[in-house]
Amino acid sequence: MHESYRQSFAPKQSGDGAALTAMAAELFGDDDEGDSTPSADDSAMAFELTHAMQGLDGVAALETALAEGKPYAVAFIDVRMPPGIDGKETATRIRKLDPNINIVIVTGYSDFSPIEISKAAGPTDKIFYIAKPFEVAEVVQTATALAGRWQLDIELAAARQQLADQVVMLEQKGAELAANESHAVHIANHDSLTEAPNRLAFLRALTERSRGKERFATAMLDLDRFKLVNDTLGHLAGDEMIRSVYQLLAASVPEGGLVARLGGDEFGILFDTPGEEAAVMACELMLRACSVTLKVFGHSIQASASMGVVVTEAEPVRDPVDVMRRADLALNESKRAGRGVVRPFDESMDESIRFRRQIESGLSKAIAGGELKLVYQPIVSREGLEVIGFEALLRWNSPEYGPISPGMFIPIAEESNLIHELGDWVIDQSLQEVKNWPDQYVSVNFSPRQFRRQNFVARVMERVQHAGVSPARFQIEITETAIFDDADRAADTLYKLRQMGFRIALDDFGTGYSSLYNIRKFALDCLKIDRSFIDGMGRERESAAIVHSIIHLGRALGLGVIAEGVETDAQVQALRLAGASHLQGYFFSRPIDAIDARRMAEDRFIEGKDDPGDGPALYQAGNGTHG
Ligand code: C2E
Ligand code: CA
Ligand code: CA
Repeated sequence: MHESYRQSFAPKQSGDGAALTAMAAELFGDDDEGDSTPSADDSAMAFELTHAMQGLDGVAALETALAEGKPYAVAFIDVRMPPGIDGKETATRIRKLDPNINIVIVTGYSDFSPIEISKAAGPTDKIFYIAKPFEVAEVVQTATALAGRWQLDIELAAARQQLADQVVMLEQKGAELAANESHAVHIANHDSLTEAPNRLAFLRALTERSRGKERFATAMLDLDRFKLVNDTLGHLAGDEMIRSVYQLLAASVPEGGLVARLGGDEFGILFDTPGEEAAVMACELMLRACSVTLKVFGHSIQASASMGVVVTEAEPVRDPVDVMRRADLALNESKRAGRGVVRPFDESMDESIRFRRQIESGLSKAIAGGELKLVYQPIVSREGLEVIGFEALLRWNSPEYGPISPGMFIPIAEESNLIHELGDWVIDQSLQEVKNWPDQYVSVNFSPRQFRRQNFVARVMERVQHAGVSPARFQIEITETAIFDDADRAADTLYKLRQMGFRIALDDFGTGYSSLYNIRKFALDCLKIDRSFIDGMGRERESAAIVHSIIHLGRALGLGVIAEGVETDAQVQALRLAGASHLQGYFFSRPIDAIDARRMAEDRFIEGKDDPGDGPALYQAGNGTHG
């Protein structure tokens, strides 16, 4: 038996063998170069043959070959190989060791059924049968064909594996790319500080909505006095505040809305709305939601914001750039209106911007053009109604617009650098005038920006010295806003001014948000009670109570208290009773021209007013005086 196998696979091939090899080549292709299959030359396949007399020996030989990395292509197994394990068992064990090997069962008639062996040593496409007695050619043909297929199978498996590896790699690359891309998209559309959508995302969403036909609201929100937080508590605190506010806004925006950080302390909000009234209400809710006291690094910060909102209807303007501009105008207007409020856009805002620009350019020519002048309103003592000083009030008579109230143009000057030029002119002018009075002081208004200007103290001092006036005759009027926005610095400035002998009055007192308690740390000479309280004194209990407590507080702190806007005899009596130290208002005199003020300063008493309780004021200023 073994001898016939040996002959079958002898190196020298018979003509039959060559023909079979050619047949196999035709069947499986013969481009299998550089492979591990033993192949002698082009025309014939050479086999390395291993014999085993017993099943176990065969299994062992296979095991060894596998370990050496030289697997067999085909195993010919006799079914009966007594003693030891039979062919079926041998095939089973071989299959267990090598899933690729082709098994050929060589069997006589009555042996195992092929199905049984297939079950044990399958798969069926790797198990074959040759009936005994066999032809040499049959064995060689089978071996050649199976070895060829075996080789191809191995190559195929390798190619498959390579492909599978590449697919896995591609999938990984793909996933990586996708992750990178979505990260990039996220970065491009989000603000890194808050993780909120950024300006780009906002503009995109706005453009998207503008293309539709639904009614929607575009709101802009800006934190009030955010710069102050940054300047006093540092940028980290500022960042923390921005983050908190974003959280609050995101939680309070109407459903389906978008809150984006446009930059700095500015947020943009988009939401659907049935109309302007509803939109304003929604904005007010959001404002309220972020008007809370935030704890930032151990500091309590009172957050507050201003908002402008514009509702875009189905028609006619749906240009996103224009929508943004309108929302922006509305925001500006709300800041101007005193902050902490919502302003809906209206067409006049466009108009008012244009007007402001005109005022601004007119104002810049006013100083050189001699269109400005100062008028003076006396401040009198409670006791004898003696004139102890004058408040200098600016008047502008524009050739283009006629007389314009300082309440109108001062805020415009404040927004540009004009305020400094204007302020310096007022200082110089009033210093010249005070020299014409026997001993009264002049009280000059300073806007917050003037007060916060670099080297404020030195600048004022220089002008006063230059004029040769004692600082004691120069009173600086500032408002609460000017000092409480940066309390520490303001306290320092006031202290220096006071050291140099200037007088300092806190103007419009009671209208700001400073607590009465807070003003202790500021070096002041007097408080000026805002005229709205004096006005309300006769009508509302609250105003009277406020006037009383301000006077009380002022006296307790050793400060003078000037009641401004005194218009009636009744007010004079009430204020005297309450203990105000000084009075100012139309009852005594309207602001008057320099010439009249000079005369009044000389007289010391206002004609007809030296006896308290007399009729109306006699002095009236000319053109441009407002009341
Ligand atoms: P203010 O400092 O509160 O000035 C007092 C304002 O009340 C003046 O208005 C004055 O004319 C008015 N007034 C005085 N007595 C009475 C009264 O009995 N009844 C009523 N109803 N009003 C009275 P004016 O002159 O229109 O000034 C408005 C504001 O403009 C001032 O308010 C001040 O804040 C600002 N201002 C005026 N001149 C200057 C200036 O030279 N520099 C700066 N920075 N601001 C100025
Ligand atoms: Ca004033
Ligand atoms: Ca005032």
